[in-house]
Amino acid sequence: DPVRRPFRRVMLKLGGEMFGGGQVGVDPAVVKEVARQIAEVAADGVQIGVVIGGGNFFRGAQLSEEGMDRSRSDYMGMLGTVMNCLALQDFLEREHGIDTRVQTAITMGQVAEPYIPRRAIRHLEKGRVVIFGAGVGMPFFSTDTTAAQRALEIHAEVVLMAKAVDGVYDRDPRVFPDATMFAEITHREVLERGLQVADATAFSLCMDNSMPIIVFNLLRDGNIARAVAGEDIGTLVHT
Ligand code: UDP
Repeated sequence: DPVRRPFRRVMLKLGGEMFGGGQVGVDPAVVKEVARQIAEVAADGVQIGVVIGGGNFFRGAQLSEEGMDRSRSDYMGMLGTVMNCLALQDFLEREHGIDTRVQTAITMGQVAEPYIPRRAIRHLEKGRVVIFGAGVGMPFFSTDTTAAQRALEIHAEVVLMAKAVDGVYDRDPRVFPDATMFAEITHREVLERGLQVADATAFSLCMDNSMPIIVFNLLRDGNIARAVAGEDIGTLVHT
């Protein structure tokens, strides 16, 4: 397979909800587990960038439905992602001795570096895991879009979309027990069938720039390593 192969530089997107273990805040047991899976791959010499969502704290769109100004609530959302980044950094460094840098799109020099693409690449080359916080720094965007944009800018070979399901199905598997999962599918077919892989902005960035996406289940132990090794797990979305 020309697309599935052992990757050397990947962008991993984690949802915030997972980090909270279903609650508001950070669940240390979950972060520890995710850090272990990332450390395993990093120790193998794979270069890893990580984007974490903020759904366990604030989603801008939800808060604005309750009357807040959308931009302000989106900034709250971005700040939430930074807390997740710091938690992951802590577990990677303290438990696993993996050098890690957090770079944020909103400057906050006391807790993280600013996002500097060339420096991020340098960190990756030195074997450091780079965690990108505060989204792209702009309201009305998402962390899916951040993962796509950062993947393109740092020349990652693939976006690994970690989910709580095994991959992309032709129908909602929670509603239709006979739904079937795609082993691979093209970006175009995802659009034509109206399937949900990432939000529209993130997805079109990937499609327009031929960035492959692997949607996979993070809850199965060792799946990050399998995806990175080019094994046949989850759904590969490609050009
Ligand atoms: N957000 C934003 N711009 C960005 C990234 C995130 O405004 O570039 C805000 C937005 O309010 C979003 C929240 O941060 O709802 C948390 O991110 P997201 O919803 O993507 O997190 P996830 O669903 O992956 O946990």
